[in-house]
Amino acid sequence: MHCSIEFFGAAGNVTGSCFLIKADERKILVDCGLYQERELQKRNWDKFPVQPESIDAVLLTHAHLDHCGRLPKLVKEGYSGPIYTTHATGEIAGIVMLDSAHIQEEDLKYKQKRHRRENRTSPYPYEPLYDSEDCEETIKLLSTVDYLEEVDLGPGIRATFHDAGHIFGSSMIKLELDLNGTSRSILFSGDVGRDNLPILRDPTRFKQADYILVESTYGDRLHEPPRSIPDDLEEVVRNTVERGGNIIIPSFAIERTQEVLYHLNTLFTANRIPDLPVFVDSPMAIRVTEVFSNHPELFDKEMSERISNGQNPCDFDGLTMSRTVAESKAIANVPGTAIIIAGSGMCNGGRVKHHLKANISDPKNTILFVGYQAVGTLGRHIVTGSEKVRIHGEEYAVRADIVQITGFSAHADKDELTDWLSSIENKPRKVFVVHGENKPATKFSQHLDQHFGWDVEVPAYEEVFDID
Ligand code: ZN
Repeated sequence: MHCSIEFFGAAGNVTGSCFLIKADERKILVDCGLYQERELQKRNWDKFPVQPESIDAVLLTHAHLDHCGRLPKLVKEGYSGPIYTTHATGEIAGIVMLDSAHIQEEDLKYKQKRHRRENRTSPYPYEPLYDSEDCEETIKLLSTVDYLEEVDLGPGIRATFHDAGHIFGSSMIKLELDLNGTSRSILFSGDVGRDNLPILRDPTRFKQADYILVESTYGDRLHEPPRSIPDDLEEVVRNTVERGGNIIIPSFAIERTQEVLYHLNTLFTANRIPDLPVFVDSPMAIRVTEVFSNHPELFDKEMSERISNGQNPCDFDGLTMSRTVAESKAIANVPGTAIIIAGSGMCNGGRVKHHLKANISDPKNTILFVGYQAVGTLGRHIVTGSEKVRIHGEEYAVRADIVQITGFSAHADKDELTDWLSSIENKPRKVFVVHGENKPATKFSQHLDQHFGWDVEVPAYEEVFDID
């Protein structure tokens, strides 16, 4: 059997994860993510470098958009085989892809209007990459499996999914190939999580792999020394309650929202903060939280213990899931301090904008950031101290208390990645450093070479390597 790997995304950059394994005539794609860096977004419109209908199987590590966001395009352009992933990832990926289609359709309407007004044209076609029907077709192809269940991908090719501890349902994938009497394994790290994250189990450690693809998002950085998130959160809540204001928490729908609920539940249970109403005002976060509740078998020990003690962080007294627009609007009439968790996480869309409009100009309120705010987003403007911001075309003075809790991250840093790799007992034939900007990827590859003496590559876009 002749085998090769081709790098079609997350090669020298972070997003657009997509790797093709060719084993004789069989083609297996691992992830099919959306490009999110502005300068690379046009690649989303390119033809796939391989005929979609010629691919035999797709394996999906997790439900983040930069890993699953081009699957509906793959299906729209002819892929009709199975998409293997874990049950929870399948459910969350469905939500994520449909949301992506919806956002594209909305953005397009807005962009078309603006371009017409400004007499401009777009370098991209005025159509979404895919629509919700393409997403529904993609969801039909999901073939979900348990962790550690062996997936047969054809003669001499097997895959298993292992908990990555990154987001709910996330996986590392080990592909095993019989190469002319020799067995070879390829380990795809997916996104590597961190030990001791709430709700999630710790990332799986492996003793053996012949080839490893390892992510390097934080390959040249260390997270800030661990501070106590509950302590920080307690302080923010107490201060805001004293002023009689609201707490607005812009949050990502997947994992971060549930993590915040977990910490709030800790504080309520220990009577460290007074009983307050908490609202999750994001239809997407509500749906994702339901997936968590559907899969208690994935919880770590602490979360399982809480549930058996009757304290469910995803369902406690005082917690309201605001599904409808009317329910969302009604939050404004709640007397006293309310904690409002709403999307989008960087404030560039979603219901959080309405809560910011209502709360940002009053110094008794707090805007609490719990996630990364990319350059150019409304969240970034607020968190970096802008005195005025534009929301829905109107200007608002920023007078609320702006707080950022920095201890949250779902990605392993340089030391944590090194620790994760240190369980490998053999010398891999090659290690590919992917899913990082050029600088962190290159620095991390040098570090791995020095630390382990391994043969390390930072593959370039469309580069091909033999697996032998
Ligand atoms: Zn991820």
